[in-house]
Amino acid sequence: MMDTPLIMTQIIERAEKYFPKKEVVSRTDGGIHTFTYAEIAERTRRLTSNLEKFGIQTGDRIGTLAWNHHRHLEAYFAIPCQGAVLHTINMRLSPQHVSYIVNSAEDRLLLIDPDVIPLLEAIKDELTTVEGYIIMTDKDELPETTLSPIYHYEKLLAEGNPKQPFIQTLDENAPAGICYTSATTGNPKGVVYSHRGILLHAIALGLADSTAISERDVALPVVPMFHVNAWGMPFASVWFGTKMVLPGPYFTPKILAELIETEKVTIAAGVPTIWLGLLKELEEGSHDTSSIRAVLCGGSAAPKSMIKTFEQKYGIPFLHAYGMTETSPLVFVSKPKSYQEDLPEEELYELKAKQGLVSPMIEIKVIGQDGEVKPDGKEMGELLIRGPWIANEYFKDDRSGDTFKDGWLYTGDVVTIDEEGFVKIVDRTKDLIKSGGEWISSVDIENALMAHEGIFEAAVIAVPHEKWQERPIACVVLKEAYKGQVSQEDILGFLKPQFAKWWLPDEVVFLDEIPKTGVGKFLKRALRNQLQDKYINK
Ligand code: AMP
Repeated sequence: MMDTPLIMTQIIERAEKYFPKKEVVSRTDGGIHTFTYAEIAERTRRLTSNLEKFGIQTGDRIGTLAWNHHRHLEAYFAIPCQGAVLHTINMRLSPQHVSYIVNSAEDRLLLIDPDVIPLLEAIKDELTTVEGYIIMTDKDELPETTLSPIYHYEKLLAEGNPKQPFIQTLDENAPAGICYTSATTGNPKGVVYSHRGILLHAIALGLADSTAISERDVALPVVPMFHVNAWGMPFASVWFGTKMVLPGPYFTPKILAELIETEKVTIAAGVPTIWLGLLKELEEGSHDTSSIRAVLCGGSAAPKSMIKTFEQKYGIPFLHAYGMTETSPLVFVSKPKSYQEDLPEEELYELKAKQGLVSPMIEIKVIGQDGEVKPDGKEMGELLIRGPWIANEYFKDDRSGDTFKDGWLYTGDVVTIDEEGFVKIVDRTKDLIKSGGEWISSVDIENALMAHEGIFEAAVIAVPHEKWQERPIACVVLKEAYKGQVSQEDILGFLKPQFAKWWLPDEVVFLDEIPKTGVGKFLKRALRNQLQDKYINK
């Protein structure tokens, strides 16, 4: 067979050549804009020609601090198709971490949204490698700022070459992207994506038994483009000629519901907190969501009750998936096998709430105390992964050896695997609760809590205990209508029939909100800190 390289130029050129009429709908602070792939490709070429003018060389890193919109999408292709490395930065991180990340990646240019300017102004003197800031704005004038030098994205594009050739001689194993992931302690860690990895991963997203993204879809990546490249959805969508809807900055559940309705979105991707918000909106407003064939949910465990509500109350099919920054991210998708569709309702939803079956091309192992665990859905072990879109080290980071060993990625996720091969995440190694020498799964208790009609969000954490070493505490946010109406006794009474007595939380703490990470996951570390004085130091 021919050994032709898998490089990102193929993705954008295919959209340009075969899907010039298909559209990208983009929401920015200036409103909703529609571009065809012919226009997006031309604008991408114009941006690429500017990178050449800036003297950007193969392998140089260029950072983006931007929401999901068409300009960010253009940067997604202009940068790697010029041989440089697309560095998507999470602007919700602390200024210290953003500064660390930019310096660690040695970004030469930053492409930024106007609302990120204050964050960068505060750290600009620490950024030792940045030679300029390109502002992605709808307005004609550049905003007032102490950042320097600054450039106007649209003006650069206007001066750019609409026929700029992309580099065709790229090495498929060369870096195309880099993304930093938060560490439990210390600075974030960089994960480098190769051209080859990105293309193979995009193919996997298109498989019928995976997310099945195709030309016929209308894809809405709600997941930020700085969170593992919006889970690779933009790469797959452009390649396959899929219409895309990019929700832009500061969207609300109402805006999402309206975009779904007007653009007839068929597949939307995001973390569970996004979907909890959408459910609330669907309960309050009236929206036509009948176009949706899949709500793709990953990043944290999707509670069974939420999956059920989507499917049974709103007729919206739900697709639970699992991945990590280190895995591009797709590893598991929870689609019942054909002969499992007839399972009794509760069992079917148990299955859908699992993280799922491993993707083709990826291999896994589950390692317990005595080697590989039995596939009985009960024995727990750490999940190990390997495959062509799984990282094999962190970027210039001496912590790599703790995670990447003997050709495997050690995920730190504790899982069970059943006789059908379905994997269920029981916990993060660091979040498991060990009470009296026995493990308690915080995820299982959270799932059960979320099924309570009065509970909006729930997180379960471990607190130290004199006798049992650790005990679970439930932190819950009640729905507005239930505030003051539901007591600790009600909640514990609700959990009691579902768990062994020693699994029941010692206490239920009522909160106004649960702290979240920059990508919308529950931040259990912050919860522990918040409750520290009450329990940990007592
Ligand atoms: P990140 O790299 O920030 O996306 O975080 C990856 C981690 O998120 C994984 O190691 C898991 O702990 C968690 N995670 C991702 N998807 C799921 C899921 N579907 N269910 C439970 N945990 C998940």
